Amino acid sequence: MISRLRTRRLRRNAPTSESTPSKWAVELSGCARTYPGVPPVEALRPANLSVAHGDYIAVVGPSGSGKSTLLNLLGLLDRPTAGTYQLAGHNTADLSERERTAIRGHRIGFVFQSFHLLPHRTALENVALAQLYVTPRRAARSAAASAALQQVSLTHRQHALPTVLSGGERQRVAIARALVNTPDLLLCDEPTGNLDSTNAASVMDLLEELNATGVTVIVITHDPAVAARAHRSVTILDGHLTEVTAP
Ligand code: ADP
Ligand code: MG
Repeated sequence: MISRLRTRRLRRNAPTSESTPSKWAVELSGCARTYPGVPPVEALRPANLSVAHGDYIAVVGPSGSGKSTLLNLLGLLDRPTAGTYQLAGHNTADLSERERTAIRGHRIGFVFQSFHLLPHRTALENVALAQLYVTPRRAARSAAASAALQQVSLTHRQHALPTVLSGGERQRVAIARALVNTPDLLLCDEPTGNLDSTNAASVMDLLEELNATGVTVIVITHDPAVAARAHRSVTILDGHLTEVTAP
């Protein structure tokens, strides 16, 4: 546990050790994304959003409102066309492609609606693959994956293929994969969208537990029950982001 915490602290400083620590995990200022075309699509209109370290925030909006566009920006999978995005106090516009990839691998965990597991790899192998960037040692990858699966209570299913797991179990494997590199920020795009209410509730419990360990959680959802569990909600409608609950 101690070594895990130490690793996390080191990672929190890298690769931005020269910058001052920020209160904000995420800070958007006038951040927008327009997709080119005729006419262009203003998927995210200039948005301001500050998310403190350790916060748990829901982004709610109907289909096509810009939720995934926002998540892709937050996850460094895309770049804003206007404004700035500061991640842990560091302007992401200054990061090289290599640094963006490193941050995605080490500091950000992703959970998607459709799990995105490799079907011919066991649960353990799926989780261990996320460690390829972290260590060349296969045994170390397996040990970390096993610990992450224990965190999501799936030790007994670690050698199963995703095809024989229930939807809820698959999403828990995906969460273990997102966790295995001890991220600071967890980004979830409709994590309960393919689950029945019982499994959705267990995924929500898990997100809350992770948040309680200090991980900043941003969850995109159209489900009011999911949004109600977060500390804060923002809505997005036709690309306009609006705060619902004051921080
Ligand atoms: P949501 O996740 O809320 O359903 P998206 O962020 O996926 O919404 O999409 C927001 C808007 O941007 C939609 O009108 C969608 O059609 C458009 N859009 C998304 N991705 C692209 C793209 N790569 N090129 C052009 N338009 C896009
Ligand atoms: Mg979407």
